[in-house]
Amino acid sequence: MSKPITNFDVNSLDALQALIWQYEMGADEAIADEPLDRFRASESLSRQGTMPGAMPPGAPRGTMSATGPLTAPGGRGTYSGAAAGRSSGPAGVGAGAGAAMPPAAIGGFVLSDTPSEARISAQKAASDAGTLEELHAALRAFEGCALKKSASNTVFGSGNPAADIVLVGEAPDADEDRQGAPFTGAAGKLLDAMLRSIGLSRETVYLTNILPWRPPGNRQPTADELMVCEPFVRRHIEMIGPRIVVCLGGSAAKTLMEQDKGITRLRGTWHEIAFSDSVQSDVTAMFHPSYLLKTPEQKRVAWQDLRGIVKKLRS
Ligand code: URA
Repeated sequence: MSKPITNFDVNSLDALQALIWQYEMGADEAIADEPLDRFRASESLSRQGTMPGAMPPGAPRGTMSATGPLTAPGGRGTYSGAAAGRSSGPAGVGAGAGAAMPPAAIGGFVLSDTPSEARISAQKAASDAGTLEELHAALRAFEGCALKKSASNTVFGSGNPAADIVLVGEAPDADEDRQGAPFTGAAGKLLDAMLRSIGLSRETVYLTNILPWRPPGNRQPTADELMVCEPFVRRHIEMIGPRIVVCLGGSAAKTLMEQDKGITRLRGTWHEIAFSDSVQSDVTAMFHPSYLLKTPEQKRVAWQDLRGIVKKLRS
């Protein structure tokens, strides 16, 4: 006779299923030693009637000013937004990516009513910013994209703000989310090697992403997320004013080139794109380094694209 299922077995099974469900929903890593009960934190705050970071009555929806200190980079050397974008609470304890938000203020996020409204807020915030530091602060204060809620950091950009080339990836992975800087993980290592092969480096180019927050579980960004955040990346590129923009992967390529085609059709093509009245860049696309890690046979094609970039730089 088989052993009867005890309560313990049922509970373990439930717990396992709950864990699998969380994993599938994108909660794929433990980022703090102690669990944080977000529901209890926000309940007790609303009982007290105080919600640090909550919107004051009458404040415009979808905007919130960042109150955290900004560490401005010196001059036009190398910009590393990581320090300014870092969350003020212990890394990943659930402070979200708003550096000014204490961990307890998690329930205080206010999302704009619709993605179109959020995009309008993004356009205004991005165009009001006059420097990279201001744009970074505007992004950290932006409340129109729900991805920020689950991210540990706002990943802005890094490299040479006077670069001739800007490379635009898709979105932070777990490493970048933890460290607050773009391309710090495995894909970044391959990107370094690719840049080295054409005589470039992180110090001579500028790196950013089409989305500044990690989609849970590294899922594909949705069309709404891309649409809402696009004004920030366009303004970011405008501020650098590069001759060449390289889109790494389909999300960046489709968004910046405003094309419906996939990366296989867009890679290796060139498009003249105006980022403002005075900034016009040659924009191309190539396979994303994460894709190349999984599909090394495509590295040959990536090499052709890199040669095309060198040719364009020399022209
Ligand atoms: N993939 C990206 O697209 N960007 C990063 O910053 C890291 C991985």
